[in-house]
Amino acid sequence: MPTTQVAEGVHRLTQGVVNFYLVSEGGGLLLVDAGAAGDWDLLVRAVAGLGRRLDDLEAVLLTHAHADHIGTAERARTTAGARVWVHHADAEMTTTGRATKTDGRIRSYLLRAEFYRTLFSLARRGATRIVPVREVGTFADGETLELPGRPRAVHAPGHSPGSAALLLEGRGVLLTGDVLATRNPLTGRDGPQIMPSGLNSDTPQALRSLAALDGIRAGLLLPGHGEPWSGDLAEALRLARAAGPS
Ligand SMILES: [Zn+2]
Repeated sequence: MPTTQVAEGVHRLTQGVVNFYLVSEGGGLLLVDAGAAGDWDLLVRAVAGLGRRLDDLEAVLLTHAHADHIGTAERARTTAGARVWVHHADAEMTTTGRATKTDGRIRSYLLRAEFYRTLFSLARRGATRIVPVREVGTFADGETLELPGRPRAVHAPGHSPGSAALLLEGRGVLLTGDVLATRNPLTGRDGPQIMPSGLNSDTPQALRSLAALDGIRAGLLLPGHGEPWSGDLAEALRLARAAGPS
């Protein structure tokens, strides 16, 4: 099932490897992350499946600016008139399409079957490079955005400089982006963890940034990669710290 309701008014969209989410409130829709460029048809179907039109898409809120999370954002902006939001530290990457360097070598994953599955799945959907977004709005840590679901930004850099989790406080839902994943897209390991070094701008910082999530009250974690995690956030954080870098 490419579209599944995972919480009241929150739908998960995925064609494998990467998740993005539609949040509905009243008549408005918010897209949290934008998948790969080739996920456009999935987005259109998902919006129609909710009985809505593309014009109902108020905004695209990005957890960070990587190619597999930003893919349909520019098209949503130009087609649906949706404003695109990103943390200010990822704004330049969003508008220029120039990715920041990673601190791990992608070569170290060449013996992993998962590495190839991820690579081929994303390449097929055009996520090998960032599709730039010409105009973005930026947010800062702690900011609550007046968008469907009233998401609050929790800046937790390391995967990228502007990586953020987004808390839907009223619903007890934390969209963790790539701050905290439940499946490693390069090794295939399941469970709460930070992203692999080969995809992070600063892995030690990504581990330290988990502290930004400490104390948040959320019963459901919705990651960029892997299955939803329902239960104790503190336990997810403990597991991620124990798993360490990869
Ligand atoms: Zn990702």
